[in-house]
Amino acid sequence: MSTRRDFIRVTALGAAVLPLHQTFGLGKLFENKPIVVSTWPNLKANTAAWGVLSKGGRSLDAVEQGGRVVEADPTDTSVGYGGLPDREGRVTLDACIMDDQGNCGSVAFVQGFMHPVSIARMVMEKTPHVMLVGAGAEKFALDNGFKKENLLTPQAEKTWKEWLKKSEYKPDHSIVKPNHDTIGILALDDQGKLSGACTTSGMAFKMHGRVGDSPIIGAGLYVDGDVGAATATGVGEEMIRISGSHTIVELMRQGRTPQEACEEAVKRVIKKHGEKAKDLSVAFLALSKDGVIGAYSTNNVFSYTLTTPDKTNLVIKAPSYFP
Ligand code: ASP
Repeated sequence: MSTRRDFIRVTALGAAVLPLHQTFGLGKLFENKPIVVSTWPNLKANTAAWGVLSKGGRSLDAVEQGGRVVEADPTDTSVGYGGLPDREGRVTLDACIMDDQGNCGSVAFVQGFMHPVSIARMVMEKTPHVMLVGAGAEKFALDNGFKKENLLTPQAEKTWKEWLKKSEYKPDHSIVKPNHDTIGILALDDQGKLSGACTTSGMAFKMHGRVGDSPIIGAGLYVDGDVGAATATGVGEEMIRISGSHTIVELMRQGRTPQEACEEAVKRVIKKHGEKAKDLSVAFLALSKDGVIGAYSTNNVFSYTLTTPDKTNLVIKAPSYFP
């Protein structure tokens, strides 16, 4: 299982791997801000974000930096450069970013730009809009100094050509993509401000033009400075159907803990699919404004990475509905 391989890699780098999410995820253990938490074993993302937060920087800068470092990594097959292409062999990227005030920016179906999370931030800060897609987003990026480049690595091209032989699309996240590094990242800075970002190349071998949950505010990411933040990874169509991240934040507003809220969102997915959801990876990660974490997944493959002043890059296995 790739999760195991990831854990071994993580351990070799010196971070602890904790199987007991409950030990860390519930209660008020993380009142000592700042905090950064990201989907999957994502040491490099947390380290980059921590570089900002530990110097008293803004959570918005932290989540952008965390996303960028994964986008630039050619070995990550589900984000940015090195991401697996769609079935036509094109790498198309989706990303969004959101702060505690409800400011947000998003880009979808962007080709040829390594840092969609930064383009999304620029959409948020420099336009009257929330979302730009496709050719319009690419023009906006070029006009604002982003460099156009080829993001299809030889390895990703080889994997795509191999896939073409059978051309079977199985939207099972855990099978399609052995590398689960699509990143959702949430941070609380020492001023108590929350932000989040999400960036991905989406489901490998998707139809050309397909956009998942990751750039959809409310599906792949949602932040409310009065309540908390949530992000998602897995088969994006499922998160969109239940407005997953927004649902979680609303449940938290109504008094559920981040853990209870993530569990309820996953149960809504399960309700639609029953036992079939075993093969459908859908995972949520939440962080309340008080620094409490929740994480839950349909199946047993999800882990997340946590960094606080006391705990450096802990990779924690999330609980799941199906064991
Ligand atoms: N949620 C992403 C999408 O559906 C995929 C992922 O998390 O790997 O595009």
